[in-house]
Amino acid sequence: MDGALRAVVTGASSGIGAATVRRLRAEGWSVLAVARREERLRALAAETGCEPCPADLTDPDDVARVAQAAGACSALVNNAGGAVGTDPVATGDPADWQRMFDVNVLATLRVTQALLPALRASGRGDVLVMSSTAAHVVYEGGGGYAAAKHAEGALARTLRLELAGDPVRVIEIAPGMVRTEEFSLNRFGGDREKADAVYAGVREPLTAEDVADCVAWTLTRPHHVNVDLLVVRPLAQAAQHKVVREP
Ligand code: NDP
Repeated sequence: MDGALRAVVTGASSGIGAATVRRLRAEGWSVLAVARREERLRALAAETGCEPCPADLTDPDDVARVAQAAGACSALVNNAGGAVGTDPVATGDPADWQRMFDVNVLATLRVTQALLPALRASGRGDVLVMSSTAAHVVYEGGGGYAAAKHAEGALARTLRLELAGDPVRVIEIAPGMVRTEEFSLNRFGGDREKADAVYAGVREPLTAEDVADCVAWTLTRPHHVNVDLLVVRPLAQAAQHKVVREP
């Protein structure tokens, strides 16, 4: 791996983002790790040698700071995101939808816009978008999250068309069920029982490391090979609604 390769990973303080930082560092990348919680980023930096960059990606000034700290980089992993609640459309709180759009869609838009000049200038740039299977199918109670992830997927597909001819790949990874420490806990407002029920009886949900493996694989293909969309699920999840649960 060329030691000059440099990646910006958002949502790096936990779950898939932190696993991606570990994986890319292990493969010799220089990594700028972005999230709000500074202490976690500092611990990750001490462990892996990444550079911590505390920032709230819903704040345009913070995004400008990220771009400045990123400098000359060749890959952006837009991973920050998440779900809030499982209310049906009929009663969903618009404030929850707003939060999901802010962090999944508008943060991705802002960071991508801010880093595109550097990614283009690298001559071998990558914009990776961590969407979800919820970017492609909907499910009851997932209206706000699916709407935000569909929008994030639309951003990725549009950007790929608009960058045609530029040396920048646009890669979308759409994971199914991934058991990370915080995703479901955040979705259910800290309710551990509800969060654990998501994975109850499921043999081997994906791990953050499994998804980081996909990130590393897509980024390290020869640069003329653009993995447009990689859908990845655990064996126990044949489709969004088809999850095998053992008693
Ligand atoms: P986590 O909740 O563990 O990670 C979310 C990350 O986003 C955290 O590091 C959080 O850090 C960061 N983040 C949230 N808000 C902001 C913000 N305003 N500014 C900067 N960073 C922010 O979830 P996962 O690792 O499971 O998920 C990562 C991505 O993968 C998300 O986009 C999620 O939607 C997607 N995904 C997850 C699946 C799953 O089943 N877990 C399935 C499919 C897709 P901090 O709080 O420190 O800011």
